[in-house]
Amino acid sequence: MRRPSRSRSLQNLGEFGLIREIRNRFGKVGRSIIKGIGDDAAVIRPTPGSTLLVSTDLFIEGIHFHLGFQSLFDVGYRATASNLSDIAAMGGCPQYLLVALAIPDHLSLSGIRKLYRGLMHPCQSHGVKLIGGDTSLSQSGIFVSLTILGRGQSGHEMKREGAKVGDLVYVTGTLGDSRAGLHILQTRYQQSRGQRKKPYEQFLIKRHLRPTPRIHLGRLLAKQRLAKAAIDLSDGLSGDLRHLCEESKVGVELWAKAIPLSSQFRAYAAQERLDSLQLALMGGEDYELLFTISPRNQNALRHASKALDLPITCIGEVKAKGFGIRLKLEDGLYRQIPIQSYDHFRQQQAL
Ligand code: ADP
Ligand code: MG
Repeated sequence: MRRPSRSRSLQNLGEFGLIREIRNRFGKVGRSIIKGIGDDAAVIRPTPGSTLLVSTDLFIEGIHFHLGFQSLFDVGYRATASNLSDIAAMGGCPQYLLVALAIPDHLSLSGIRKLYRGLMHPCQSHGVKLIGGDTSLSQSGIFVSLTILGRGQSGHEMKREGAKVGDLVYVTGTLGDSRAGLHILQTRYQQSRGQRKKPYEQFLIKRHLRPTPRIHLGRLLAKQRLAKAAIDLSDGLSGDLRHLCEESKVGVELWAKAIPLSSQFRAYAAQERLDSLQLALMGGEDYELLFTISPRNQNALRHASKALDLPITCIGEVKAKGFGIRLKLEDGLYRQIPIQSYDHFRQQQAL
């Protein structure tokens, strides 16, 4: 017997039927929302004394995700996690989400529900509400555009500018895991799919599919005015550090031996005979936070790291702009940091 709601097609449901479904399942409103899904625009009550943080991200099938080795839930999860990470990097509190979708008509309603379940999952733990979006037919693949609105504390927003000579450069978590996880997924997909994954591979795949936006740390850094400048790592350390340095008009000395790498990532690099440092510098989509603090705030930061149970590592020092961005190796020699990070319009360097 057919299960009517699960196998319902978009042709049967229609655009407005689909929006009704999304509204009923995922569009529950909260106190600050005067009008959510269902009108020409959402109406929200701004928080007095706060600034409004707004960020948009696009996710295109074949460019940002491949359904060959990711589920629709995975796609949704990673999309909002990366969108929330932008608010984390500003030190804000994410509040409202808008989802614009273009979908091929062969996608089933249950597929769209999976996508929304993934989209809403990282939102739930931060109380982020879905307040609207747009829906269109696509002739080629799935397009998801997310807009996140968040609350900032006036004058406390963390920008990419503001790093000063003598500041220390910090990063959360470990680097390169996500890129390694993606590579494993891609090669598994091309090779044998049934092969059992080793525990370190499972860890790295999870780091790719379930990134954690560092919302709590971002808020704490902003509230206590600990960080002078901050950015989230979406393009890779070498690229995002460059963005931060450009905006702050400074250079950085990075310490190779300090760059935090997970044991699973090291195992992967050894197995694949890859240069782990190079990979960690270039690997994107870790969604960790990179920030600079004045050395006198190190103690406060240590407390924050403990309180949040989040590893935070000092990886370098801010220098004058003329110093450039250089990597200090264990033997004391300097190496140029690879300029290339992820760039949609440039040819990518192979791993
Ligand atoms: P309009 O014609 O004014 O653009 P729509 O018919 O596109 O209105 O949307 C009706 C309501 O549904 C609006 O509140 C809109 O924000 C919401 N909406 C549309 N598509 C989506 C979606 N994919 N996800 C969440 N909300 C949506
Ligand atoms: Mg519309």
